[in-house]
Amino acid sequence: MKINMKKQFSGHVALVTGAGNGIGRATALAFAASGLKVVVSDIDTPGGEETVTQIKAAGGEASFVRCNVSRDEEVKALVAATVATYGRLDYAFNNAGIDIEKNRLADGSEAEFDAIMDVNVKGVWLCMKHQIPVMLAQGGGAIVNTASVAGLIAAPKMGIYSASKHAVIGMTKTAAVEYGKKHIRVNAVCPAVIDTDMFRRAHAADQKKGAFALAMHPVGRIGKVEEIAAAVLYLCSDAAGFTTGVALPVDGGLTAI
Ligand code: NAD
Repeated sequence: MKINMKKQFSGHVALVTGAGNGIGRATALAFAASGLKVVVSDIDTPGGEETVTQIKAAGGEASFVRCNVSRDEEVKALVAATVATYGRLDYAFNNAGIDIEKNRLADGSEAEFDAIMDVNVKGVWLCMKHQIPVMLAQGGGAIVNTASVAGLIAAPKMGIYSASKHAVIGMTKTAAVEYGKKHIRVNAVCPAVIDTDMFRRAHAADQKKGAFALAMHPVGRIGKVEEIAAAVLYLCSDAAGFTTGVALPVDGGLTAI
């Protein structure tokens, strides 16, 4: 089987949430560089617009749609805008997420719990809820959700976040089973610590924790956003045609320990 990603992606359309920064921006740039038209979405308008500027400067095609993924009406409008602008939706990277807690489980607050679940769980569910009908009508598509190694193993002082990412994997597997025969593949990526603002904020707040994060990966370093983007492109491509319902660790060996 000969796989030509650029040929497969050419003329197709991708939607990326949380694309105003970090992993989402890197993946939106990689999608565009592979010939996809990209809808860049984020709650952060300047960040999202900057991603579009970078894509266009590199010769790609993209447009920005602001969306809070935890609001049903906004996600519905985002998917409708994607179809209105580019005529279809082939690939979705549901990546927006937050990581705000620093406490052991019993010390967390109800407000933290609700905020994390609203974005990380409800946001991914709402995205799939509105994307899947479009893909069903088109005859197929591929979805990648951002989970985390915290969705596979324990995450001390991030217990609610860990629960939210386990939930992402549960929804991913279920959607893969429910829509497999309809040619919609659904997978998750599980990054370990990646060099993004999310990591830099945590590192700045707690340097000991930051140094530990560097040391805990068997490859001896943290990951790069481009390494997650590459995994997402693979999962969307025909090269992964027989791969669905997986939670793929991209983690420098962390979960192999
Ligand atoms: P980031 O903070 O750089 O980017 C996250 C983006 O999501 C931001 O642009 C933010 O504005 C957006 N966002 C937040 N709430 C939103 C909402 N309600 N609606 C729409 N957009 C919203 O972080 P990142 O590291 O690039 O994180 C991307 C994803 O990767 C998240 O789901 C995160 O949980 C996951 N992840 C990150 C790491 C890491 O080490 N950075 C590790 C594992 C998993």
